[in-house]
Amino acid sequence: MDNKKQRQTMILYLIIAIALVFGLNSYFNPVSYNQVTEVSYSQFLDMVDDNEVTKVDLDTSTNEITFIADDNGSSKTYTTTAFPNDDNLVSRLSEHNVDMSAHIPNENENLLYYMLLSYVLPLVIIFFIGWWLNRRMRKAMGDTMDFSSGSGFGGMGGGLGKSSAKEVKGEEVHTTFKDVAGQDEAKESLQEIVNFLQHPEKYNEIGARCPRGALLVGPPGTGKTLLARAVAGEAGVTFFQISGSEFVEMFVGRGAAKVRDLFKEANKKAPCIVFIDEIDAVGKRRDTSINSNDEREQTLNQLLSEMDGFDNHKGIVVLAATNRPETLDPALLRPGRFDRRIPVELPDLAGRKAILQLHANDVKMEPGIDLDVIARSTPGASGADLANIINEAALRAVRYGRKRVSQEDIQESVEVVIAGEKRKSTVLSEHEKQVVSYHEVGHAIVAATQRSDAPVQKITIVPRTSGALGYTMQVDENEHFLSTKKDMEEQIAVLCGGRAAEELIFGEATNGASNDIEKATQIARAMVTQYGMTEELGMVALGQQRNRYLGGGSELTCSEGTAEKVDEMVQKIVEQGHKTALATLQDHRFKLHEIARYLQKKETITGEEFMAMFTRDDGFAPRPKPAEQA
Ligand code: ADP
Ligand code: MG
Ligand code: ZN
Repeated sequence: MDNKKQRQTMILYLIIAIALVFGLNSYFNPVSYNQVTEVSYSQFLDMVDDNEVTKVDLDTSTNEITFIADDNGSSKTYTTTAFPNDDNLVSRLSEHNVDMSAHIPNENENLLYYMLLSYVLPLVIIFFIGWWLNRRMRKAMGDTMDFSSGSGFGGMGGGLGKSSAKEVKGEEVHTTFKDVAGQDEAKESLQEIVNFLQHPEKYNEIGARCPRGALLVGPPGTGKTLLARAVAGEAGVTFFQISGSEFVEMFVGRGAAKVRDLFKEANKKAPCIVFIDEIDAVGKRRDTSINSNDEREQTLNQLLSEMDGFDNHKGIVVLAATNRPETLDPALLRPGRFDRRIPVELPDLAGRKAILQLHANDVKMEPGIDLDVIARSTPGASGADLANIINEAALRAVRYGRKRVSQEDIQESVEVVIAGEKRKSTVLSEHEKQVVSYHEVGHAIVAATQRSDAPVQKITIVPRTSGALGYTMQVDENEHFLSTKKDMEEQIAVLCGGRAAEELIFGEATNGASNDIEKATQIARAMVTQYGMTEELGMVALGQQRNRYLGGGSELTCSEGTAEKVDEMVQKIVEQGHKTALATLQDHRFKLHEIARYLQKKETITGEEFMAMFTRDDGFAPRPKPAEQA
């Protein structure tokens, strides 16, 4: 909240307080407010005679009499001046049973006491209460002050259209680049902005124009918000954070007012960073369709003009984050606005290990924990997922009453994050258990014969809350950046292994393979429409990915005739995988029986156990290829 606003609230509070004190005084202390009727001495004497007077107070120095008289049931205060030396008065008063008192006033002292008690003391008390309330409000809001609610007294102030950005002062931003593991390229790009914020004058001298805005793009949970904060922390400048959706208001014009306020505030606090999180909420491409959102467009226009308008010499940088860059209005991305695009991608193996390490530093671990294995078993996990894995592991350690996190805790929490908690309430019948066992071992055997570089790590038939009744975990030994057509075909075969085993052994299909089918189809469809991997359709992009960072599949962009062919091809590829899986399992059906029975009994077996059983030569099955390599 700015000082002006605060002063206004303060003054308002004061006026109310003073009015209150005076009002109360006039009510309880009638003497000072002329609710006293002045009467003549003879009138007074008459009233005494009429038994109306109940109480009399005489001021001996001025002979002033203040008295209270009953007037038709209500008592009123009167004053009069007594005749000096009226000796009769005392006897007359006592005759009528009037309560008498007299005092020698000390004018000054009296007035002083009176003022102190009835004005100064209450005002001091009120001030103190106000100050205390104010302090409490600030404390309650913590380090970050929300200047929409007004940090004045009781949340007065804060009108329409105030920006609701969170403001964090430079010295209070404790996040630095050290808190962001991996993401080295992003950090490098942001370092220049840090330098600029620290020494804007250096850039001005040479005439260089520093970027006004940078857009952090990447999938959710990769650390975009974290990086933006870290820039403020590195540079030690004030950090304004607001989410794009907070600009979108019910009433036209309010969002725009918020933008204006935000930049006004930023201008005062420069050098600073204005961070607009999830900017796609407000920055969506403007279109001319009838049901366009007026309010959003106005807000966006305001944002565009503010970005052109602010004085960059002082060092204001606008950062924004989004995971849907393709939906942003092109006007936002032109030079002078968010012209810099900083990709914040999912971490690779080294990045994942670094993130795990960073978060592991916050929890107590048993010595000798191997985070490398964990990093290898979590391809595709974001920074947020990994942070969550470590936290889940710590929670599990506490649940089991341990003081330190063990390797098993982390391993188990990887599975919780991937597949959900173990579900105790799901009790499978023995037959169901048997089917699931064969299904999982089917996957594992196809994986072991097809994909030597991604050994099976674990097979389990313990149901999970995600709905999976069991799963086979494979861990890639190396990270792949390039996948060949063969890799993909093998992957599809492995996915088909579950259903193939069910068919082979029980002669019928179950619904347990739905997830496998979905994944296999997805891979096959991408092979056809995106990677140009079929001879029939050639190297033509037939689909468009809907959203690069949020998954969401792809849309076909081809004629109907071609679409039909695409479906045909996809079917063919998946069917081929299915056939491969069936043939493989047929070859190894003795092993399939043996291991599935073992799994049904044990419920969970490790990759090593599986490989040991699978490669043991007992004369029935052909010796599998990977046995030589393993
Ligand atoms: P985004 O804004 O990209 O969706 P966040 O910045 O909010 O993601 O990240 C969420 C959390 O994930 C962070 O608070 C942090 O704990 C963790 N995290 C994500 N990426 C990283 C990283 N590179 N290094 C360390 N922690 C990370
Ligand atoms: Mg975020
Ligand atoms: Zn399966």
